[in-house]
Amino acid sequence: MAAKKKGAKPRKRCKEDKQQSSEDRQRRILEIRKRLVEERERLLQEAEAALNTLPEEGAAFPDMGDQATADLDRSFMLRLRGREQKLLKKIELAIEKIDNGTYGICEVCGCEIGIKRLEARPVTTMCIDCKTEQEEEEKLREV
Ligand SMILES: [Zn+2]
Repeated sequence: MAAKKKGAKPRKRCKEDKQQSSEDRQRRILEIRKRLVEERERLLQEAEAALNTLPEEGAAFPDMGDQATADLDRSFMLRLRGREQKLLKKIELAIEKIDNGTYGICEVCGCEIGIKRLEARPVTTMCIDCKTEQEEEEKLREV
């Protein structure tokens, strides 16, 4: 029983509201882009601020090779910030997609992702139908 690899099979028709190039959608995507750029700045600044506070803490141990201590703290902080780094990557990918015109298209079915969903969750790469399906499959796998 060869289970066909699922992926881009046209299992569902895209929602009928074909507004792909509508001005409204474009305008709202540009708003999203602005928000993404701001979010990226905020994350970068936070990460930098976190790293910059470390050497001072290390200065409490002047004789114990502060550089080594600082390096240790630094790698710890970087690991701690893995979540933010992942988000940062997603944000950068989303901005890239906006710039090359592929933003807002579901990676699984190729349908347009609803603008409201994009506004609520700008880094999403799947339409709500595919996301729901994926989550259900993950649930099944976890059992
Ligand atoms: Zn989809």
